[in-house]
Amino acid sequence: ASTFAGQKLALFGLGGSGLATVHALKAGGADVIAWDDSPESAERARGLGITVSDLREADWSGVAALVLSPGVPLTHPEPHWTVGLAKAAGIPIIGDIEIFCRERAAIAPDAPFVAITGTNGKSTTTALIAHVLAQAGYDVQMGGNIGTAILSLQPPSRERIHVVELSTFQIDLTPSLKPGVGILLNLTPDHLDRHGTMEAYAAIKERVVASADLAILGVDDAHCAAIAGRRSGPMIRVHVAGHGDAAADLVASEGRVLEGDTVLADLDGIGSLRGAHNWQNGAVATAAARAFGVEGDALAAALKSFPGLAHRMEQVGRRGRVLFVNDSKATNADSTEKALTAFHDVHWIVGGKAKEGGIAPLSALFDRVAHAYLIGASSKAFAETLEGRVPYTFCETLDVATGRAAEAAAASDAPEPVVLLSPACASYDQFRNFEIRGDRFRELVTALG
Ligand code: ADP
Repeated sequence: ASTFAGQKLALFGLGGSGLATVHALKAGGADVIAWDDSPESAERARGLGITVSDLREADWSGVAALVLSPGVPLTHPEPHWTVGLAKAAGIPIIGDIEIFCRERAAIAPDAPFVAITGTNGKSTTTALIAHVLAQAGYDVQMGGNIGTAILSLQPPSRERIHVVELSTFQIDLTPSLKPGVGILLNLTPDHLDRHGTMEAYAAIKERVVASADLAILGVDDAHCAAIAGRRSGPMIRVHVAGHGDAAADLVASEGRVLEGDTVLADLDGIGSLRGAHNWQNGAVATAAARAFGVEGDALAAALKSFPGLAHRMEQVGRRGRVLFVNDSKATNADSTEKALTAFHDVHWIVGGKAKEGGIAPLSALFDRVAHAYLIGASSKAFAETLEGRVPYTFCETLDVATGRAAEAAAASDAPEPVVLLSPACASYDQFRNFEIRGDRFRELVTALG
């Protein structure tokens, strides 16, 4: 990042993106004072030849900016101590995406840059757009809040497209954000513990489209519809039939993406894009692909070959008529609702460390469940919710549940029974994280032979 050559920067947070940032800044000739409160992270950084010193004791005079890791609170619940120090010294606070944006403005201001945000569907849409553009032959660099840290990607250039997922925290640390294509999928209350009010949260997200040359907006919720109403520049509004009633340019209806009467894409039958929420993701990706001239058969083929993301309604196998779906990322009822809506004759593996409300919000979908297999700490409470509505078995562990569910599904006479791991719970009563839980499920399915 040569735009910072000769400058002195303070950096807090030496996780993956923090390390990538230090390397990029140093390679660009900046002088970095880095720190992390975790002794393990600090030690690891030292091992990589990074100078680590406590920012509480550092000399902040002449520091051009504080580079903050996106996981560190700027405001809620209370500002991190580095934020107080930087503010007291009148020093701007930025993140790694800001460094990328300044670099792009300096070396390749026309470099294609697609930025994606929203409350839900960010990762799916980012991966889908990257996949479609790569299939069409573009040199695609995907990263940000998904996968690779942005400063570990190839630098911006006119010949490649950066497809970057942005969290609210990252946007907040990027005052120079100005993507070529800015995408906002949807806005629902989430992370309000970290952003205060819904208005504050929506205002941060709006910057992704407000600053973009071309805005692509889902308009199915009131906040996004209002943002579309304020936009004066080029914009493509995407609507999923049956959700909201805002005016739109593209409509996804029963999986078909329509512009007026013209079918631009057909998502129906694409296993990795099942469910109405994925029609929003697919329609938005269609709009983005067209902005780069990808349409027709090339678009259709690319959409069809999208493998989907691990742990999000990921189809991990088929045994005879039985489909096995890993939705381990579903750590609350809201996410599980999407999965239950997408299938019938579900053998549902559910449970773990429950969120408030448990699975009661899903009761309207219980008729899709053939049998529930209860795992983890929530078992007793979930059994009470299911009582008299859905037959269930206490399985305790995922291993037992997968075996029982596979057996029962194979014996059922439904045309396409589904064994679905969609726990509606956090994993940490039995697993370190949802990825490990989903990986275990995939292993168990593979082992079924
Ligand atoms: P994010 O990156 O925003 O967390 P993901 O693409 O990882 O989103 O999807 C996470 C979960 O959110 C999915 O399993 C699904 O339940 C739900 N989801 C995905 N896309 C959407 C959408 N467009 N609208 C609402 N919910 C969605």
